[in-house]
Amino acid sequence: MPELPEVETAKRGLEPSLVNQVFDDIFIHQGNLRWPIQKNIKSLLRHKKILSLSRRGKYLLINLENGSLIIHLGMSGSLKFSSKSSIKHKHDHVIFKFCSDSYLIFNDPRRFGSIHFSKELNSFWLIKNLGVEPLSDEFNIDYLWKKCNNSKTSIKQLLMNHKVVVGVGNIYASESLFYAGINPRKVAHKISKKRLSLLITEIRITLSKAIKLGGSSIRDFTNSNGKMGYFQQSLAVYNRENEPCFKCNTKIKRVILGQRSSFYCYKCQK
Ligand SMILES: [Zn+2]
Repeated sequence: MPELPEVETAKRGLEPSLVNQVFDDIFIHQGNLRWPIQKNIKSLLRHKKILSLSRRGKYLLINLENGSLIIHLGMSGSLKFSSKSSIKHKHDHVIFKFCSDSYLIFNDPRRFGSIHFSKELNSFWLIKNLGVEPLSDEFNIDYLWKKCNNSKTSIKQLLMNHKVVVGVGNIYASESLFYAGINPRKVAHKISKKRLSLLITEIRITLSKAIKLGGSSIRDFTNSNGKMGYFQQSLAVYNRENEPCFKCNTKIKRVILGQRSSFYCYKCQK
């Protein structure tokens, strides 16, 4: 599933090809994605120029003169830029054509992805309630300390709450908690400020490393230069139940928290 690092990788990969492109037409072969594509999207995009690309949580934002395209890759979505018209592949649901005769192709076999357009990005319903970005200065110890103090949930569930912080998915939460030495089941408000500071650092390191490696997925999530995600090959605890901890050799445990599997070493993580 595309997580924050994959979306950031997609953004960085597509940006050089997309900035300054002008939309010519859109071909919607299958508009029933997670939410139906709005009917007037063609007229909103036509002849509009792309000014920049950005990311908010797991949403890729293509910013135009008159608003933003908000794209979510869902479970299986990908975006591909093509400088020439090519054969339509299976699950190529939406094809954006630019005036330069190049194309942006949205492919999504499971159709959990989505495409929206909004003139007012920050008040758009999918965006407005999102928590802070984990790689921004807003995700600091004062912020996390306050959120933890008001919470009765486990630290793992708090990290995965998008109203608190966006884009720390299951893999990244599990890995960061391992490196910070914190048990994922630990109640958030019982963790010291010092340990939470370390956790912030480890989340930043884990996400940055994944971005550098092109995301955690085995699959190629976009991109123009065909980079694969190699992060998954270097995971410390995630998906390693009963395998030895690489620090102490204890078997990695799996526990269900908030209906998601969590992996941890009970000796290294207290
Ligand atoms: Zn261990």
